[in-house]
Amino acid sequence: MSDVAFAVDLGGTNIRGAIVNRTGEIKHFRTVRTAVRGGVYAIIDQIVQLAEDVFDEYGSRLTAGVGVVAPGPLEPRAGIVRFAPNLPGWENVPLSRLLEERLQMPVVLGNDGNCAALGESMFGAGKHVDNLIYLALGTGLGAGIIHQGQLIEGIAGLGGEVGHVSIDPNGSRCTCGGIGCMEAYIGGWAIARHGEMAVHSERSSLIREIAGDDRITAEVVAKAAQQGDAAAIDIFARGGRALAVGIGGLVNVFNPELIVIGGGLARAGDLIFEPFRSSLPHYTMLPIYQHIAIVPSALETNTGVYGAAANVFYQLPDRMTSS
Ligand code: ADP
Ligand code: MG
Ligand code: ZN
Repeated sequence: MSDVAFAVDLGGTNIRGAIVNRTGEIKHFRTVRTAVRGGVYAIIDQIVQLAEDVFDEYGSRLTAGVGVVAPGPLEPRAGIVRFAPNLPGWENVPLSRLLEERLQMPVVLGNDGNCAALGESMFGAGKHVDNLIYLALGTGLGAGIIHQGQLIEGIAGLGGEVGHVSIDPNGSRCTCGGIGCMEAYIGGWAIARHGEMAVHSERSSLIREIAGDDRITAEVVAKAAQQGDAAAIDIFARGGRALAVGIGGLVNVFNPELIVIGGGLARAGDLIFEPFRSSLPHYTMLPIYQHIAIVPSALETNTGVYGAAANVFYQLPDRMTSS
């Protein structure tokens, strides 16, 4: 029986790894710049080295298991990374099997949104809450749903893709190939693109001015909006409303008590939250709406590590009590 997990976050430009216990304390945290040019095996070596380092510090190799979070697309049940936007050359990598062979421990792979939802419900803003929708407003719109204490996973562990719920049959094309996905309105990439369009159509000059010679990002559009640029304010208002339409539908289906919001784009604050909050009642049945609280993420910078650990405790409960 072990009360800790070894958690690895492959999502950023660094690999982050740590021992995390069941009450959500991060111990022996280590980080290393991801050797993206080295290919799959160089990165596996880095993870194994990082594991050995933290096990040495911890003084034991006894864990409930190893949790790995990656941005995906993944096959979580099969432990396969089909493709990773931040890891060039990764295609159909059987990551769980490769790490199990090297570490001689069970490995569970999970996507960032679903793991973060588990992390928030175990250690974060949704502690002791059995019904929540987690949203990561980042470059895309990541998410996870916990319903009656269970993660919504579906047949292959791919469920919970809230960001790719379509809200407009005639909407614009999403990065996933779908049409009118929520992400195409409120993902960071979409906000940036709408910012570019506002500049090209001469509805905004401030966005270009703030960006200077650099790329227009969602952060730039947010700055323009904060300085009163009408086109930029409208981009966020439409994004917040789009989010309310899609989330309203899910709220009606799942009757959650909490919506937890994290991600870099959430720093735009009321530019998104005001239109989101004020529109949500229009797309939710009143008795269901009355149970909802909307709160910020409590995990933030270490969301990936917490999520990877939570996924171990969630997916490997038997080992916790029987080993
Ligand atoms: P991911 O993990 O999906 O790459 P993050 O959660 O780090 O993304 O969020 C990145 C997104 O947040 C980008 O689109 C970026 O432009 C946006 N962003 C970062 N800071 C701010 C800010 N202060 N205001 C608005 N958007 C921001
Ligand atoms: Mg992310
Ligand atoms: Zn999509």
